[in-house]
Amino acid sequence: MTTRFRDTLSGELRPLEPIEPGHIGIYSCGPTVYGPTHIGNFRSFLFADILVRYLRYRGLTVTWVMNVTDIDDRIIANANAAGEPIGDLTGRWLERFKADFAALRMTPPDVLPRATEHIDEMVAIIGRLLERGHAYRTDDGSIFFRISSWPAYGRLARLDPAQLQVGERVEADDYGKDDVRDFALWKGPKPGEPSWDTAIGPGRPGWHIECSAMSMRHLGESFDIHTGGVDLIFPHHEDEIAQSEASTGKTFVRTWMHCDHLRLGGAKMARRVGNIARVSELLEQGVSPRALRYALIAVHYRQALEYTDESIAAAAAAIERLDTIESALDAYAQERPDATDLDEVLAGARARFEAALDDDLNVSAALAAVFDLVRELNRRIAERSMSTADAARALGTLRDLDRVLAILPDEAPGLPPGAAELLAARETARADRDWASSDRLRDELAALGVAVEDTRDGQRWKRSEGV
Ligand SMILES: [Zn+2]
Repeated sequence: MTTRFRDTLSGELRPLEPIEPGHIGIYSCGPTVYGPTHIGNFRSFLFADILVRYLRYRGLTVTWVMNVTDIDDRIIANANAAGEPIGDLTGRWLERFKADFAALRMTPPDVLPRATEHIDEMVAIIGRLLERGHAYRTDDGSIFFRISSWPAYGRLARLDPAQLQVGERVEADDYGKDDVRDFALWKGPKPGEPSWDTAIGPGRPGWHIECSAMSMRHLGESFDIHTGGVDLIFPHHEDEIAQSEASTGKTFVRTWMHCDHLRLGGAKMARRVGNIARVSELLEQGVSPRALRYALIAVHYRQALEYTDESIAAAAAAIERLDTIESALDAYAQERPDATDLDEVLAGARARFEAALDDDLNVSAALAAVFDLVRELNRRIAERSMSTADAARALGTLRDLDRVLAILPDEAPGLPPGAAELLAARETARADRDWASSDRLRDELAALGVAVEDTRDGQRWKRSEGV
């Protein structure tokens, strides 16, 4: 089975063919660090996380680059409004972003480059665009990309060439399809704005040039996969393609993958709509990080995802089922010959899981394969029809598939101090049929965040997680 992903530019499902055999370079547009990143952004980042994890599971070496925009119109406005140095503001929100992605078990990107550390690379690209006639200066020292010089402009966003407003300019970093005009590569110096002295004159970069500079610096002039949310297709990614290809003469990106919106209360989650939810707020409200991760990854990336109380409750229930099977398989002990058909069942589940992800990263079908396997294993546990070794092999398969999903409980979760002694005392109490002490010890363990359950295989415990 070939791994195929849908490429936004061609509109086709394309087989994954690495530029360099065995290696995939992936660039994901990352956060603009002027405030907390909301879970709509995290849906897009976690889609890229699943992509990276799956390609690694498939044995490929992946270099994952996610940029940090630490200079743009909004950052400058927020820092000026708060009377705070820009570096302090962006540094604080970058740390928060890292804490949030760790809580959501996102793979740390291999490179997390900051825009302000790549000014030289941006200046070099803009210099080449000026030399080749794809860019021009204005009186205030700004430099714009000339879209009429690039006939392919508009292919990604499927723009009608009649929409192009030739010779007119848009200065804002973010603009809509009604403003298909020459866009700012470099912004001339202004009072109250940071400025760099460079070979193309003083000023600061526009937003779009940042991603061309950082992706090509870390992945080369042509690389395999570029990801982002659908709202970045225009103008951001359209502009990235134009300025990158016009400066190098090479194909910029092989496959463009775009993640659909997260919706809350019937509308796309967006700061300007005001319907945003942040990771730390949800965790403080008692949502478990694993349930939140599950809720954000469980729907195919090209479908809109509605975040509701019901969707997070369903995610929490799914996590609970995984916790239960994990501890049941871990505790399972049965002296009997190995089941003759278990390997086939495990291999079948794995084949379904891989076929789903090979088919344009169909994570909902991959999760269905996992939960069908969980149901089958629960049946076998109830029947006592597996050997101890069978249960270990089944758990090994679940753990291996979880390299992609990262939703199972941590392996060998540590007990809080004092809990091991209470568990041992409770085991003795139960052996002595001292049910009153056993119940009291269960309550004491619960107070430490350890949930105990009695099974045929003895007492089983797990860390209780708020949901
Ligand atoms: Zn970007």
